Amino acid sequence: MSIADNINNLKSQTDAQKVTLVAVSKTKSVADIMEAYNAGQRIFGENMVQELVDKQEQLPDDIKWHLIGHLQSNKVKYIAPFIAMIQSVDSIKLLQEINKHALKNNRIIDCLLQVYIADEETKFGLGFDEAIELLRSDEFSELKNIRIRGLMGIATNTESEKQLKEEFYELKTFFDGIKLSFFRKDANFDTVSMGMSSDYEIAIEQGSNMIRLGSTIFGSRVIKHWKNN
Ligand SMILES: *Cc1c(COP(=O)(O)O)cnc(C)c1O
Repeated sequence: MSIADNINNLKSQTDAQKVTLVAVSKTKSVADIMEAYNAGQRIFGENMVQELVDKQEQLPDDIKWHLIGHLQSNKVKYIAPFIAMIQSVDSIKLLQEINKHALKNNRIIDCLLQVYIADEETKFGLGFDEAIELLRSDEFSELKNIRIRGLMGIATNTESEKQLKEEFYELKTFFDGIKLSFFRKDANFDTVSMGMSSDYEIAIEQGSNMIRLGSTIFGSRVIKHWKNN
């Protein structure tokens, strides 16, 4: 099936009013992204800064780019002028850097805190305690050019539905608690980004309202540089 077919199938399967689809286009070509764009998709996710910047320059201005991969502080400046959302915030230091460059660009940048829910050592993210500590800190209260829109999590790479359910349930429950404690009066804190190609149905059942899908839309990724696709 074509990329456009995949997008249209997803639209008919999921309630687009409630669940925002981020098309994860990492390693995929500009032509592939344009096919999704022409099918109406406007939100795209990338995990590498250089690749994101290269693509942004070549593609339509009304695309909303989300960074979904680990971000080094020294690279924030390259994406600050245009990035729609940074989903992978995992430290106060990074948040301060995002704030600094958002201010320089006269912008407010939407961010998600990436929270660690998997039982794998390799995944980035804040522990529950660390996320709370960050939100309570004086440093955080001083940041005026970032807006925390919610939380993002990556579940364990497992076939166990039970485990996936538990991990997504934990993140949603944590989101509800954080909303009550820190964002009770802030309607902008509204995003639970969880669910990828292999687990998005379970994630939606558990309360996700933003799914990040790559292979379901674009087909599987072979590891090669996107420019040579
Ligand atoms: C690659 C990636 C995705 C999409 O993965 P698929 O399995 O292709 O849907 C989603 N979220 C993050 C953080 C990713 O790095």
